[in-house]
Amino acid sequence: MSGDDGGARPRSDRATLTVVGGGVIGLCCALAAADAGWRVTVLTDPDAPRAADVAGGMLGSLGEGHPGEDVLLEITADSVRRWPALLARLADPAIVVATDSLFVGVTSADVAVLAQLARFVWSGPVGSETVERSVLRQVGGREIRDLEPALGPRPVGGFLASGEGAVDNRMLLRALESALVERGGVVCARRVDSPAGLDGDRILVAAGLGTSKLVSGVDLYAAKGEILRLTANAWSVPGPRHVVRARVGDRMVYLVPRSGGIVIGATQYEPIDAADRAPRVSGVADLLADALEVMPGLRTYDLAEVSVGMRPCTADGLPVVRAVDERVIVATGHGRNGIVLAPWTSHRFVEILGESWAD
Ligand SMILES: Cc1cc2nc3c(=O)[nH]c(=O)nc-3n(C[C@H](O)[C@H](O)[C@H](O)COP(=O)(O)OP(=O)(O)OC[C@H]3O[C@@H](n4cnc5c(N)ncnc54)[C@H](O)[C@@H]3O)c2cc1C
Repeated sequence: MSGDDGGARPRSDRATLTVVGGGVIGLCCALAAADAGWRVTVLTDPDAPRAADVAGGMLGSLGEGHPGEDVLLEITADSVRRWPALLARLADPAIVVATDSLFVGVTSADVAVLAQLARFVWSGPVGSETVERSVLRQVGGREIRDLEPALGPRPVGGFLASGEGAVDNRMLLRALESALVERGGVVCARRVDSPAGLDGDRILVAAGLGTSKLVSGVDLYAAKGEILRLTANAWSVPGPRHVVRARVGDRMVYLVPRSGGIVIGATQYEPIDAADRAPRVSGVADLLADALEVMPGLRTYDLAEVSVGMRPCTADGLPVVRAVDERVIVATGHGRNGIVLAPWTSHRFVEILGESWAD
């Protein structure tokens, strides 16, 4: 962000960037470019759904480490380190809803699976550095309830991932757009059918799932996810202070704090027709059953929203951030990690902008 323009500062104050897509990736890249001195216009289809509107907003890396996903873990950890600078740039502390994550299992077999993932992270795949055990550390049942009194008696053990918090995704999107506009950027409601005819010295296509139709050679598939939003009423028990990520048998459920409520997520179905946007009864029932298993007090909340989003996924699970030609750059394919990866992506984007501008 400011002071970290990756050499992308344009030589002329007439240098213009058009961004296609006003999701978290488009807006974060647009702000980074505006901070680097570009005149930025964002064009975004008001009728195309935006995955970032439904997301949980978790900023996970260590607790997300899965064998075989070493590169993803590395860039996610890099992005987590960039989040404080982005939050300082946005200057609204209310965006942060939790600073740590608590991973819990409801049986010893569930805890054993979590321990396997922790061993993978401790063994050092993150940039060849071994992750300190104080950053991801094992906790027993009693400590879990001391840390998170909102939990019921079922969780028997787990791990605390310090520094892995969450943001309010909708506040984040509003803050990114406001910061961009304050910096002189423009956001227009407009569907783009091809980047070819657009004005601008450089074009960024960051249209989420819509990118495949705009840039050839970018193949994406949709992973559908259901997510629930609960709001507290006068009789509700206090909600969690951490992001709680629970393993319940062969399923994961997460509870993410919000001001005045809780987000419960998320299912995943893939591959799926991107037009299949109806929530399934089975998905909603599983989320509620698993969430109540770890926090029975959720019964006291109101079910305010059931929503469905489509994660834009690539076959290798890695985001695509690259120049397509001398004018067009693409940033998409962030799958289940688009929020956490936004600062890494915008940093990489301004690097590419700098390289292409220097040519
Ligand atoms: C249920 C669920 C939970 C999730 N939870 C998390 C989480 O906890 N943490 C995390 O890091 N990630 C999470 N994600 C993933 C994250 O939401 C996505 O990876 C991220 O939103 C992708 O960002 P994007 O900007 O590429 O796409 P989107 O957010 O989908 O935005 C794309 C934008 O492009 C616009 N657009 C599309 N086509 C066109 C066109 N032709 N012309 C103009 N504009 C166009 C759309 O209107 C939209 O504004 C979750 C996703 C889902 C579905």
